[in-house]
Amino acid sequence: MSLLTVGSVAFDAIETPFGKTDKIIGGAGTYIAISASFFEKNQNIVAVVGDDFPQSMLDLLSKRNVDLTGLQIKQGEKSFFWSGKYHNDMNSRDTLITELNVLEHFDPIIPAAYQGVDYLMLGNLTPQVQKLVVERLETRPKLVAMDTMNFWMDIAMDDLKETLKVIDLLIVNDEEARQLSGENSLLKASKVIRNMGPKYLIIKKGEHGALLFHGDNIFSAPGLPLEEVFDPTGAGDTFAGGFMGYLSNTDDISFENMKRAVVAGSALASFCVEKFGTERLTEINQTDVENRIEQFIALADFEMTLQVG
Ligand code: AMP
Repeated sequence: MSLLTVGSVAFDAIETPFGKTDKIIGGAGTYIAISASFFEKNQNIVAVVGDDFPQSMLDLLSKRNVDLTGLQIKQGEKSFFWSGKYHNDMNSRDTLITELNVLEHFDPIIPAAYQGVDYLMLGNLTPQVQKLVVERLETRPKLVAMDTMNFWMDIAMDDLKETLKVIDLLIVNDEEARQLSGENSLLKASKVIRNMGPKYLIIKKGEHGALLFHGDNIFSAPGLPLEEVFDPTGAGDTFAGGFMGYLSNTDDISFENMKRAVVAGSALASFCVEKFGTERLTEINQTDVENRIEQFIALADFEMTLQVG
């Protein structure tokens, strides 16, 4: 099948208790596309960068079968730049800088060849741009998934709610689910959010795994205990990429298959946090991913016979 990703392709500067980077490659779209490439070989991307973005990174995406026809390069402009600093627990972070640059006036032009795409992943971006992409697709994809963040809830909640009405699946973390719904209980939050539009919801809980909701069904995937979490940046996007790449490759949106996709996404995300930025994701191979998925399966596997009476 085919997967279209829309998202930031950017520079990041990150500070964690383990160290600090200068400008490195980041962006939600970058993480999603690299991660999805482990499962889906037919990928498209709609994004924008400035003329400061390195060709080597674009080549890396091409080599991973990401078609770059939809990636606009704006001459004389700068790429999106984000900088964040993690607290000691690595679960929370402060955004230090958000320079929208080319993203400020981003017009997500869909190349004609991308029409008819099977799966759509709307990475973290302005909610109006995310909605525009759905409207510009002439055929409704089999599944429209979307990520967002507290930044948009703070400054564009009304637009975000409009976008939620046109998507099938929302992927957020626990803090974002609580902010969006106004509910502390994630179960209550899941109901409030699904009443806003998306039939499916995934709530990521950082090192504690992820929850998938649809109708009355709930699935809980574990978080893989890791000795060291070096840099969580992009873990959420990497999860989304693995999830959507797996769904697109298997072309099955049943709840049972979505459970497998959640584990696929979790496995990729567990690699992402092991080094700064996208570094670890570009080192690993297919066998590493398969072995890690086996670890997830083993971690949650148990048998039990209920003794009744
Ligand atoms: P995550 O750690 O999964 O939340 O994703 C971090 C990535 O999101 C970084 O690589 C940033 O470049 C990107 N990012 C941060 N803020 C924004 C924003 N407002 N719009 C688009 N992308 C963003």
